[in-house]
Amino acid sequence: MISGHNESMDKAVHLIGLSIAEISSFMEELGEPGYRARQIFAALHHRRLRNFDEMTDLPKSLRAKLFEQSTAATLTVESRYLSTDGTRRYLMRTHDNLPVETVFIPEDRRDTICFSSQSGCPLKCDFCLTAKLGLLRTLTAGEIVEQIIVALNDAYGVGTETPRGTNLVAMGAGEPFLAFDSLMKALSIMAEPGGLHIVPNRVTVSTAGIVPRIRELATLPDRPHLAISLSAPTDDLRDKLMPINRRWPLDDLMAACKEFEASLKPGERLTFEYVMLDGVNDS
Ligand code: SF4
Repeated sequence: MISGHNESMDKAVHLIGLSIAEISSFMEELGEPGYRARQIFAALHHRRLRNFDEMTDLPKSLRAKLFEQSTAATLTVESRYLSTDGTRRYLMRTHDNLPVETVFIPEDRRDTICFSSQSGCPLKCDFCLTAKLGLLRTLTAGEIVEQIIVALNDAYGVGTETPRGTNLVAMGAGEPFLAFDSLMKALSIMAEPGGLHIVPNRVTVSTAGIVPRIRELATLPDRPHLAISLSAPTDDLRDKLMPINRRWPLDDLMAACKEFEASLKPGERLTFEYVMLDGVNDS
């Protein structure tokens, strides 16, 4: 049986969250030849099609089977706000009606897409609006990849080559390291040369300080850049601003960061972010 799809979605396989190998197994289950997997993967990730009807290079009979047993797209755009500088902010909805925030930021040399890893967030950072929602649900790998596809299609049109490269930042709603499996799977799907081809070196993941995952990332070969959201120089203040600090205080966090730093290869980065809050942590 195929893994990686959302069981609650009426048992439908969410194709965009599957690796090529997983789509191959799905083809086998459907009695279809294995080479269809690459065709479908390219249709979803390279041509960025979100509808089986548009995959006219697939036989009608296969499209009918796909339509019956799987889904190509699950996110819908509820609202879009376009700024004068070209920044596009999206509020999307999952199939179970949960909010997902994504931002597309055009820049001279590259575009940046800021994506969410969770709907809501279980951490209670004092300065954050998303924190007020609590955790609604961790997103699936497919829901992470879809945010990028929706934003690129909106900016450039379905399937159109993008004029610049794309950087990704996991700095939208949610703590990415509490969505670790979805995140790492989404990154490996997006890195495929036959798809979006956005390699981990183009991705930055920002964490509030989930220490065991920082240590785990230090052991992985293909990984994104890491940013640590610090926001306070002392445990006293950080306990208040980012309560996750009570679980992993600054000493533990810094020890894990040192481990990660020691594992850095050329071209990889570890950075610290410091949100300045008027009169709170800016003295
Ligand atoms: S981890 Fe990020 S999304 Fe979650 S509460 Fe903190 S700032 Fe907000």
